[in-house]
Order: sequence, then C-alpha cells, then structure tokens
Amino acid sequence: MKQIDYIIVGGGFAGFFLAHQLQKENRSFVIFNGRQISGSYISAGVCNPVILKRFSTFWKSKEQMDYLETIFSEIESYTGKNYIIHEPVARIFHDEAEKKQWLKNSKKEDLKSFLDNDFITLESVENPLESGVVKNSCRIDVENFFKDMFQYFDAKGVLINESFDHNLVDFDNSTYKDLQFKHIVFCEGIHTKDNPYFDTIPILPNKGHCLEVKIDRAIDPYIIKKKHFLFSLSEDRFYYGGTYDRFDQTSDINSEFVQELETGLQAFYKGNYSINKVRTAFRATVDDRRPILGTHPEFKNLHIFNGLGARGVLNGTYFSKVMCDYLEKDLDLDPEVDVKRFYE
Ligand SMILES: Cc1cc2nc3c(=O)[nH]c(=O)nc-3n(C[C@H](O)[C@H](O)[C@H](O)COP(=O)(O)OP(=O)(O)OC[C@H]3O[C@@H](n4cnc5c(N)ncnc54)[C@H](O)[C@@H]3O)c2cc1C
Repeated sequence: MKQIDYIIVGGGFAGFFLAHQLQKENRSFVIFNGRQISGSYISAGVCNPVILKRFSTFWKSKEQMDYLETIFSEIESYTGKNYIIHEPVARIFHDEAEKKQWLKNSKKEDLKSFLDNDFITLESVENPLESGVVKNSCRIDVENFFKDMFQYFDAKGVLINESFDHNLVDFDNSTYKDLQFKHIVFCEGIHTKDNPYFDTIPILPNKGHCLEVKIDRAIDPYIIKKKHFLFSLSEDRFYYGGTYDRFDQTSDINSEFVQELETGLQAFYKGNYSINKVRTAFRATVDDRRPILGTHPEFKNLHIFNGLGARGVLNGTYFSKVMCDYLEKDLDLDPEVDVKRFYE
C-alpha cells in the first residue's frame, strides 16, 4: 500500500495549480486525470481584470492579477518555462459613448491601473473608433502549459491517467485501490455531477466553442476583443472564441455557435482565413460567481476545488493558494467561496 497525503482528482487548471501548491508544501500526492472533457485545454488563457462590457472590475481582480507573476515564476523554476504572454487586451470600441465611458472609468481608483486612456489603432482588423488597452492584462500559453505540466508530473510518477472511481473509496481504512490517503480533493470541473459526494453542488455547465484559424499574415500583438477574443497562436494561426451557451449539455459541435463565431470574426477581420479546428468544452460556473472551496459536511477528508467559471487561470492560480492554506495551515475560508454556503 502506497502512503500519500493527497489524491487530486482532475488535471485541469484547478488540479494542476493545486498540485503546484501542495508540492511547495512538500506534500505527497497523485493526480488522477480521466478522459472526461476539460474546458482548460481549449481555454483562451486570457487573464483580464476588466469586465469588457461595462469597463468595470470584479471581486479580487487586483489580488489575482498581482499573484499571477509569482505563481508562474514558481512553476518556471521546475518546468523551465514561463507561460505568461505579455500581450494585453485591446477592446475595439463600438461607439463614441463607450470611449467616453472608458475615459470616465479610467479615473476610478480600482480601474486606473487597468484602463489605459491612450487609445490605439490596430492595423490587422477594422477598428474605425480605435481600441482601448487593458494595462497589465495578458494570456497564458495554454497548450505548452499543459504539455509541460503533464510531462513534469508524469516524470515524477504521480500522474495516473485514468478515471477515479468514486465507488472504490474505502472510508474505514482511508484507501483507494493500493493508495492510502489522508485527503482527496476533487477538481473535476463539470464532472462533479457524477461525483456521489458532491453531486448536489449546483455547478452549471456553460458550453463554449472556439476556432483555430489559418491565416496568411500575422495580426497585431494584442488579445483583440470585439465580440470574442482574437489572438495569434503562431505566424499563420490564430485563436478566436469563445461562445457561451447555458442550455446545450451535449459534447457535440453546434453549428449555430460556429456560425456565431464566423459572423463575429468577419465583422472586423477582413483577411483571408480558413478554419483548422472547431473545439467545444464546458466551463463549470456557479450562480453566485464565486469559486467553490472546502470540505464535505460529513466526510472530513473529502474536499472540493471547483467553480472557476470563465476565469480558470485567475481563479485557479489565486484560489489554489487559498485552498492549500486552508488544507495545510488550517486558515479559514472566506464564506463567499466556502462550499458550506450550499449546505446551510
Ligand atoms: C471556449 C472556452 C474559452 C475559455 N477561455 C478562458 C480564458 O480565456 N481565460 C480563463 O481564465 N478561462 C477561460 N475558460 C474557462 C476555463 O477553461 C475554466 O475555468 C477551466 O477549464 C476550469 O478548470 P477546472 O480544472 O476546474 O475544470 P476542467 O478544465 O473541466 O478540468 C477537469 C478535469 O478533471 C478531469 N476529471 C473529471 N472527473 C474525473 C474523474 N472522476 N477521474 C479523473 N479525472 C476526472 C477531467 O478529465 C478534466 O481534465 C474558457 C473555457 C472555454 C470552454
């Protein structure tokens, strides 16, 4: 029987950022990752502290942005790469009223470090009313981040590429197959619905589609935002997405959303392009827009880290530290994120 401190179930943003934190604490763990659909792998990886509809900000955005550099430089110390790409968001303005609103909000205390009041004109897309730049926003190289994290934890012998079977947990002996654990942390995204210990937690799947597009010339080095995000993946490929759909819970590509993406792209990108790939997956969202952290009310060694919503990178990095401090240092959880809110 192998003795370990933690079993982590799920190898998306939540699972890997938590593994990173536990590794810093010198804890032993394994990561189970099955073949279930993961939103993390198709995510745009955008880290943006501003709500681009209203030019406002959100709960803990500054703390989350401040923590990004720290966590990615820690990860760099063992993978050898830093995955932050410092290309900021450039929001194309739809009308003069938006520009006015941006300038007004850029004077507010919580937004002045984010809303740049020097507007720019992008060359590769139509933006007749210019674009506003979100200072300090960036994105993560999602493809290489996961490639390297899988390789790193696999080489350490802690990655188990199989689905975790909830029915095989033996609570009397704290064992799962040949593993003796102290804790299990479920980081299963929308698959929490199949977890008999946490299936009453109201995670709402929000389906997203995105495109990988082939182009003949590079676009400006920004995360360009009109209806969706557009940015370069390489000289001749870009990412465009993603859509939001709360209703369709199948894993099929839905042509209605592919059409929405094509129409959105054609509205401002006038170059030639062809679609390489269409991908779809789900975000695990919560009505109150707060992540879910904490412990099962009855089984005190079963925990959940979920509900990262549309901000898997910012929520995942920041709250993985909160989750680890809660588990390892017995620090209290903010009631706004505590899973207890669903049991009261
Ligand atoms: C189109 C799209 C674009 C997005 N863009 C952005 C963006 O720009 N910026 C951003 O921050 N976020 C973005 N997101 C959101 C982000 O992807 C999610 O917040 C993130 O995926 C949540 O990560 P997670 O680890 O909680 O869940 P998931 O990514 O769903 O990962 C869960 C993992 O657990 C595994 N699993 C589940 N159950 C089991 C089991 N029983 N046994 C073993 N393994 C199991 C699954 O296989 C999966 O790998 C986007 C999402 C989509 C769909």
